[in-house]
Amino acid sequence: MPDTQTAFSFLGLQLELQQNLKSLGYTEMTPIQAESLPAIIAGRDVIGQGKTGSGKTAAFGLGVLNALEVKRFCVQALVLCPTRELADQVAKEIRRLARAIHNIKVLTVCGGMPFGPQINSLEHGAHIVVGTPGRVEEHIRKNNLDLSQLSMLVLDEADRMLEMGFAEALDAVIDAAPLKRQTLLFSATYPAKIEQIAKRVMQEPVLVKVESSH
Ligand code: ADP
Ligand code: MG
Repeated sequence: MPDTQTAFSFLGLQLELQQNLKSLGYTEMTPIQAESLPAIIAGRDVIGQGKTGSGKTAAFGLGVLNALEVKRFCVQALVLCPTRELADQVAKEIRRLARAIHNIKVLTVCGGMPFGPQINSLEHGAHIVVGTPGRVEEHIRKNNLDLSQLSMLVLDEADRMLEMGFAEALDAVIDAAPLKRQTLLFSATYPAKIEQIAKRVMQEPVLVKVESSH
């Protein structure tokens, strides 16, 4: 990892984000954050590969929050996760990271939950939607979720989403997203199938691979 700066202050994040990171006790970036965040903030598509616990959520979460235009109340970022539990964890971490930025709305939309309240919540709007591919696809198909203003698409734990049979739903969601967007893909492993998806849906992605979490 030559010449990689590891202090969050090096990134030039929005001041509120920097201050909140301090209050959360986040001072040093983990290796995957240090290697991926400069490219993410520069607007590049990024493939991040690193094992569980390496800090992938804050890597894409800070990228999403730093790019967000809070005054525009529309879905600007969509994060897809393999399970409801993971989606809930990701939403919780993004809310923690966003604590200093007022009025950021993060909504989770997952399978196995009643449909009606989700429609209602989607009608009320959000800046960031976190969900599982099947349910998100269904909401798009039924016009409950408008992706026309989306500028960031995050595929978290992409390998597990495929293992869980979400390939078709993933394709449908990606096809519904605007072509002009930033796409971030995170995965613990990088099998051929993920590589194929990346080739198809990402533009000149920066590949970041980190072996250890510290
Ligand atoms: P992954 O998605 O790679 O499995 P997580 O994003 O869930 O990992 O992060 C693992 C834990 O590390 C979380 O509890 C998170 O709050 C914490 N964490 C992430 N980045 C940092 C950091 N730079 N400094 C301190 N703690 C961090
Ligand atoms: Mg994770």
